[in-house]
Amino acid sequence: MISLRLYKSFKNAAVPFSLDVDYEIGGEHKNVVLFGPSGSGKSLTMQCLAGLVRPDSGHIRLGGRTLYDGGSNVFVPAQRRKIGYMFQDYALFPHLTLLQNVAYSGTGLWPWRVCSTQQQRAQSVLERFGIGHLARSLPSQLSGGQRQRAALARALNAEPELLLLDEPFSALDPLLRERLREELLELIAGLTIPAVIITHDPGDVDAFAGSLILYDHGHARMVPNYADLRRDFDSPGCCLRHLQEQ
Ligand code: ATP
Ligand code: MG
Repeated sequence: MISLRLYKSFKNAAVPFSLDVDYEIGGEHKNVVLFGPSGSGKSLTMQCLAGLVRPDSGHIRLGGRTLYDGGSNVFVPAQRRKIGYMFQDYALFPHLTLLQNVAYSGTGLWPWRVCSTQQQRAQSVLERFGIGHLARSLPSQLSGGQRQRAALARALNAEPELLLLDEPFSALDPLLRERLREELLELIAGLTIPAVIITHDPGDVDAFAGSLILYDHGHARMVPNYADLRRDFDSPGCCLRHLQEQ
């Protein structure tokens, strides 16, 4: 169960923006899909969840834990939130090998401080995702699909309680996308922890079959199911119309 009430405003930015969302997710579905147009606040919500951005006010509760509470000034730092984050562009350290990238997320340590047990654990996570043989490669030496797996391995190495996936397919070409969506779905289905997934693509909403949150200009609301989302497409002035026209 995730309970979110977030207010975050960038009033002085070149393009002022306010995020103002309030919802609870969990229960019926294991996974949650955040859907909506560019600039609507999806990644910002994830950054607040992960502890990378501090909201102006509100609260974040995950299971029985309070990760943030503006009223009582609680702010659990990112490294203690037990949340795995796969970034929109993967954000692998370009100067570290895959093994070092993965070990870093489990330990927060740079390569020269990681002990052999931690290295073995990182290696076994890479094996689990079928890229153990690439442990000593740099991210620039990998294909898009291998990089995606490495990013997922890094997100899961620290044994998180929640997995955040920010547009896991956006960096891939359309052909690879189709195949990797299937693969990633299988990997996620095999996990015992819940995942929050951001996507622009109505096809992904169907595939991930989670609770659905629709974002629009910094606001969010739950949409009961994919059929209701399709109906929204047809309403005049819908924020998602441009997607239908693509
Ligand atoms: P996309 O689908 O394109 O990734 P998004 O829904 O993930 O879009 P966000 O990254 O959440 O969009 O950004 C929402 C808004 O917040 C944008 O207008 C962005 O410019 C603004 N924003 C985010 N972080 C900052 C910041 N640090 N300073 C100023 N504005 C910011
Ligand atoms: Mg984004």
